This record gives sequence, C-alpha cells and structure tokens, in this order.
Amino acid sequence: MEYVTVQNKKIPIVADVDVFVAGGGCAGSGAAIAAGRAGVKTFVAERLFALGGTMTSALMSKIAISFSNHGIAEELLKRLDAFQHSDFLAGRHEVPIDPELAKWMLDDMVVSEAGAELRFGATITGVIKEGRNISHVIIDGLNGPEAIGAKYFIDCTGDGQLAFNAGASFLVGNEQGYSSSPTLMFRIGNVDIEKLISEMEAHADVYASEQDTYSNHKISPAQNRKNIANDKYAHFADFIPLIRQKIKEHPDFLTPWESEMMLQRGLIFMNQPQGPHVLVNSTRIPYFRGDNGKELTDALIAGRKQVHATFKFMRAFVPGFEKSFLMDTGSMLGIRESRRITGDYIFTDDDVNNLRKFDDAIVSNFGGIEIHSADGKSTRHDELGSGNYYHVPYRSIIAKDFDNLYIAGRCFSANHAALSASRNIAYCMALGQAAGTAGAQLIKAGKQNVRDIDIRALQQKLASII
Ligand SMILES: Cc1cc2nc3c(=O)[nH]c(=O)nc-3n(C[C@H](O)[C@H](O)[C@H](O)COP(=O)(O)OP(=O)(O)OC[C@H]3O[C@@H](n4cnc5c(N)ncnc54)[C@H](O)[C@@H]3O)c2cc1C
Repeated sequence: MEYVTVQNKKIPIVADVDVFVAGGGCAGSGAAIAAGRAGVKTFVAERLFALGGTMTSALMSKIAISFSNHGIAEELLKRLDAFQHSDFLAGRHEVPIDPELAKWMLDDMVVSEAGAELRFGATITGVIKEGRNISHVIIDGLNGPEAIGAKYFIDCTGDGQLAFNAGASFLVGNEQGYSSSPTLMFRIGNVDIEKLISEMEAHADVYASEQDTYSNHKISPAQNRKNIANDKYAHFADFIPLIRQKIKEHPDFLTPWESEMMLQRGLIFMNQPQGPHVLVNSTRIPYFRGDNGKELTDALIAGRKQVHATFKFMRAFVPGFEKSFLMDTGSMLGIRESRRITGDYIFTDDDVNNLRKFDDAIVSNFGGIEIHSADGKSTRHDELGSGNYYHVPYRSIIAKDFDNLYIAGRCFSANHAALSASRNIAYCMALGQAAGTAGAQLIKAGKQNVRDIDIRALQQKLASII
C-alpha cells in the first residue's frame, strides 16, 4: 500500500485513476457517466448516500431541460418514462421526476454501465497539490481518511468544496454577499388534487393570483387537470387571498411569524409522476451566503420550522389536503447558489441576455435570469423567448488557478445573475458531461493541462448538448 503524508499523518492511497469526480449530484453523475463511457478510469466520491444531489436528496424533483439538450439528462428522462410507462419528457422544458427512481437509475448508469468506481459517505476534506497541479484528494468516510490520486479532477460539489480545499479563488453572492435564497423542499402525500382543482374552478376569486412570482409558470386549473391526465407538469401557486381569508377567520391558528411567512410567500407546489402527492417549493431562507457550516445548520432548522407551519396550514385549509400527511423533507437543503469558483472566464448575465455564442462553446442553455431575492420575499424570473439560447464557453469550467481542475454544475465560473439563469438540472448535468468528456479526451491524447484540449474534437463529441 502506498501512502501520502498530511500533517505527519500517513494516509493510504486507495485508488489511482484518470478522472476524479467530487460530488455525485447531477453534474457529478453527468461527469462520471461521460468519463466512464469514454473508457477512462473514473472515481466518484459522494458525501451522502445516493446520487443526484439536489435533484434527489434535496427533493428538487422536476427537471428543466431545453429543447436542444439531448445529452445524459435526456437519456435519464427517457429511462424514467420507459420504466413508468409515461411520457413526461414530451412536456419539456419542465419535466417532473420520481427522485427515488432517479437515484436507482443513476446507480446503474454511473456504476454498472459507465464502470465508474463510486464511494458513498465519502466527504472530500482536502487535496495534495504541487503548484498548479492537484495530485490527490483526501476523502473521509467509514474507513477514515483515504487518498485518491488522479490526473484530472472535476469539482461537482455544488459548493466548490474540492476547489476551495485546494485554495482556488471564488466568489459568493450578489453585491452584498448574499446568494439567491435557498429552499427546504418537502412532499405532501395523500392529496386529492382533483378536489383542489374543482374548488379552484368553483371559487376563482379565492384562488386568484396576487403575486407575480412564477408568473411564467401560471397554469389555469383546467390546464392543470389536463396536464396531470397527460403526464405533464402541473403547477399551483399563490393562494394569498385564501391565506388572508383563513387568517381572518382563525386569528389564533397561526402564530404572527407563521402568518407573515404565509402571506409573504403564499404556496407553490407541483405534481409528481407517482400517485396523489405534491412537491412543495414554498420555504425561503433569507440572507444566506452558502459558505458557512453554522449558517447551513441554522438554515435547515429554520427551513423545517417553515415546512411544518406551511403543512399545518395546508392540511387545515387547502381543499384536497384534509387527509394528507407530510411525506418527507429534503435530506439536504435546496441550495440555489453558494461558492462560484473563478474560472478562466467568468460567464455573465450580459452573455445570457445577449444570447452570446462562443467559439469554445461546450453547452447551450435557454434559461433566463431567475434570482430569488436575498430577503426571500420575491423572485425575478426572465424568459429569453422561444427558441432563443446562449452558449457557455469551455473556459468557464476551468478553474483559473489550476491546470488539471474542472468546475462543473452550480459551482462553475459565473457571476451571481448568470448562475441564476444557468443552474437548471439538465444544464448542470451537461456541464458535467462536458467536463467528463474533456478529461477523457485529454487522457487519451496524453495531455497534462486542461488548456491543451483540441476544442473542435471536444465539440464534436458534445454535439448533443451544444
Ligand atoms: C429550491 C430549488 C429549486 C430548483 N428548481 C429547479 C427546477 O425546477 N428545475 C431545474 O432543472 N433545476 C432547479 N433547481 C436547480 C438545480 O436543482 C440545481 O442547480 C442543480 O441540481 C445543481 O446540481 P449540482 O450537481 O451542480 O450540485 P448539487 O445538486 O448541489 O450536487 C452536489 C453534490 O456534491 C455532494 N458534495 C458536496 N460537498 C461534498 C464533499 N465535500 N464531498 C463529497 N461530496 C460532496 C453533495 O452531497 C451533492 O450530492 C432548483 C434548485 C433549488 C435549490
């Protein structure tokens, strides 16, 4: 057994691979599948106990996917449809998924099919580097600290944990240092959705929308009924007039802060592929940066408080929820934004809004700016117009301070507003796919620097996502 020595401690080297993927969220899964399929030795370390990250463990089980994305995300959605005998993908760009099925399918795609070595319960805690090159990462899990050597590293931890441990430069938040506010997602089971839709039709005044949050997602009750019958995304939002009415009728039911929260945010929930349950996206944690463990703990505690208050209201007063139960909350916080590692290029909102195309394009995307205000009170969501898209350049997945480190998924190099546009699940998966494909190509070409890529050859391999 070979060892590395860190602070006088001998740590065993348990694997030596071509490509190391940090974090097994959608970006990490995309990276591992792409690298593994390309035939290079790949290792993925995930601190939790399932693949998918936010999409599965944080219960953000609805994939936004552009019409031009025919990459690994589309493949996953086709598999889910085939297994469920459903046709959800036809409803892109918003596709509800079953998070449990996705976890299971990703296990297969990453391990059995792509042949990557996967370690769950493995947190990246450090790196060994020389100058601009990382040689090993240190993971910590059931076996204690272990080292893994690799030629290329892809940080898909969302928070940029590998790059941060390596000392890479990064940015956090907006001009005041705050990130888009996070959400603790939760699901409610045993909901009579048809009853809700009928009530909404019968009492249009009580269910009229007051907020313009998610105005792009406004769907009429009749259309929601049709969508549910036809395996499509259904979205219910606002409910402010109902909340105001119930607070008036039952002044002691909610505490003052619960009332304030409910009136501020209203309710936002959507359908899921399996059975009579809904996914709720109503909680918001204000003034969150995303780079501090105490802040994260406090956010989860506050999020759970909001979940239980919201559920209490829904069960008591929203038609169709009378016999419902709280199924689960995300086993991780739904973090929209935290560290953004600085790359050779910082992708900007100007690039998004001007639908910029790049010579070194690796992925295209269609998302407009979607900033969840730092105070958690409002959402700005722009649409770019049907058929419009922009490119993301290869340089924005290269960590500027290193020669063998990619950053893929929501920690890629972007400014605050640009990240808000380009962090949807299928897109993060595509960034991972691009980084995994690039790493494999470099290995095969015998190159030692991410900047020595043959970009045209890479773009040919990435045609399905550009
Ligand atoms: C509330 C909310 C609503 C959203 N709505 C939508 C939507 O409707 N549609 C859509 O497409 N997208 C949506 N998004 C965006 C999307 O879900 C995320 O941007 C995307 O899933 C991020 O994927 P990722 O792989 O980059 O990061 P993550 O999902 O954060 O994955 C990172 C992974 O790395 C692991 N990890 C972290 N640190 C370490 C470490 N030190 N060692 C080992 N492993 C580590 C984590 O456990 C995790 O599994 C939403 C996000 C949120 C939070």
